[in-house]
Amino acid sequence: MTFLEYAPAPESTAILDIKPSYGLFIGGEFVDARGDAFATISPSTEEHITTVGEANADDVDRAVKAARLAYDKTWSKLSGSERGKYLFRIARIIQERSRELAVAETMDNGKPIRETRDVDMPLVAAWFFYYAGWADKLEYAGLGPKPQSLGVAAQIVPWNFPLLMLAWKIAPALAAGNTVVLKPAETTPLTALLFAEICQQAGLPEGVVNIITGAGSTGAALVAHPGINKVAFTGSTPVGRSIAASLAGTDVRATLELGGKGANIVFDDAAIDQAIEGIVSGIFFNQGHVCCAGSRLLVQENIHDDVLHRLQRRLQTLRLGDPLDKNTDIGAVNSKVQLERISALVDAGEAEGATRWSSDCVLPDKGFWFQPTVFTNVHTSHRVAQEEIFGPVLSVMTFRTPEEAIAKANNTPYGLSAGIWTEKASRMLAMANALRAGVIWANTFNKFDPASPFGGYQESGYGREGGRHGLAAYLEASDQKAGGR
Ligand code: NAD
Repeated sequence: MTFLEYAPAPESTAILDIKPSYGLFIGGEFVDARGDAFATISPSTEEHITTVGEANADDVDRAVKAARLAYDKTWSKLSGSERGKYLFRIARIIQERSRELAVAETMDNGKPIRETRDVDMPLVAAWFFYYAGWADKLEYAGLGPKPQSLGVAAQIVPWNFPLLMLAWKIAPALAAGNTVVLKPAETTPLTALLFAEICQQAGLPEGVVNIITGAGSTGAALVAHPGINKVAFTGSTPVGRSIAASLAGTDVRATLELGGKGANIVFDDAAIDQAIEGIVSGIFFNQGHVCCAGSRLLVQENIHDDVLHRLQRRLQTLRLGDPLDKNTDIGAVNSKVQLERISALVDAGEAEGATRWSSDCVLPDKGFWFQPTVFTNVHTSHRVAQEEIFGPVLSVMTFRTPEEAIAKANNTPYGLSAGIWTEKASRMLAMANALRAGVIWANTFNKFDPASPFGGYQESGYGREGGRHGLAAYLEASDQKAGGR
């Protein structure tokens, strides 16, 4: 097959003004961290981007106290419409600075500019616009006539959608009248620090948003702080479990958005070419670093060979390389550690007897990369069918009947997402009723909307983000407000 040659089309980084180092954003200003400084690097080039401070337990204490002061003195006293004005202002600034934010996210995370520009940043702005609209309408959230904010929310986010996960956390918390201390992931702090500048630009009262950078120990200190009322965590299931254990017996509210092993189910009556695009976006979007990825493909047995053939042909056309190039489909894996995790699970898949196929794209010399990979001859007991790989790796299994598809799809400790491809609406509804997953797409995949709740069952966590349900996580239904620990 002959492929078109593309001229390089790199997005310029000139729009970005990255400082050589960043402190912590506490009480409305950047302050020095007391812990050691650490570097954030570009996963596609391994080049140094900037240095950020590591918040130690004293810094965490400062940040929580700043958030408490802001809650008591200003934010909880403002009317909903006043809070909404700040959120609308933040949303508009995000739109105005979206190109700059997209470039920063691509540099720090490694995901293609096409995605940060066309998916992440529009959704970040949409999340702030959506919750800005709720700020003066909380009595219509279904939580009684006078829902109350909780107080100080401790928020911890992962590296796969750094600014989008920040938006999912901060927008509803602020709309509901809480103040926040947010910790971005250690490999992707850049856009959270730019967001701190946006808070300043928007004139947000000091201490309403505090951003502290650091690794797991900073997150653990934040969760353990006695001054918080709520923990909102997105990340891996093991860390979520340890957070749940550390909060047991306290009255701190928690929502946990954890891992997944979503099933993408293709019936023989589906529009196959459309399904191929859905399979590709389901697992190769964002290098597969997506909690709700369709990482298990369940395909009806009679169309298995056809689907696989078309899928492999399509994967050969994906362009892997410089994430700042506007033609790139597959960017870099976010870190060396994550690349090692992916490689170890792929090795396990081969050792257990599954058949590996990888597209023959050339990997750059520098940086962290993994080719789009498909496993066939996968048994439900294989590690590649059970464990979250969080990379561009698809495990393909077959089924004969809808019952078998349901049994296989539900054979997972997780329960975050699923996809159904069929032309029969009755089958979509019947399948959706039987699948144990928080989000189910039909004839599409990985579609996100701020008005739609998102969350999991079982080891995918508990609580919902997005929509009216996402407000409930930051509000007390009665006039009885939790008083901390
Ligand atoms: P991770 O759990 O290692 O880290 C997530 C965040 O928690 C980071 O900010 C990290 O510094 C912090 N952290 C680490 N140890 C901590 C501790 N002991 N106490 C408090 N905080 C701690 O996860 P990751 O590798 O960064 O992210 C990938 C995981 O996130 C995947 O499992 C993915 O499925 C999940 N995820 C889930 C959703 C969802 O909405 N369900 C969305 C995105 C990612």
